[in-house]
Amino acid sequence: MFIIEETPIAKAIENARKLHPVVRMIRFGLYTVTGSKGNTYTVRCWRERGQKVVDCTCATRDGVACKHGMAAVPLHSYAATTLLAATSH
Ligand SMILES: [Zn+2]
Repeated sequence: MFIIEETPIAKAIENARKLHPVVRMIRFGLYTVTGSKGNTYTVRCWRERGQKVVDCTCATRDGVACKHGMAAVPLHSYAATTLLAATSH
């Protein structure tokens, strides 16, 4: 688990680009991301006290951004924008 605002994420974003993962939305805030060995990780994204929190089922320790999490974040941000736009009117 890591907090986007408090974690260096540049490396994880770079690794996510190299990974070319398949990201699927199970529901808003819950995603699956394929790993480098064809395995699948579950990534959860949510907001806590105004910060974006990302949790992944891979072995990356807490406080370190992983590439699966950073692969799911753009989809989550996109979904947040479109869903909020659809429900707030
Ligand atoms: Zn991960």
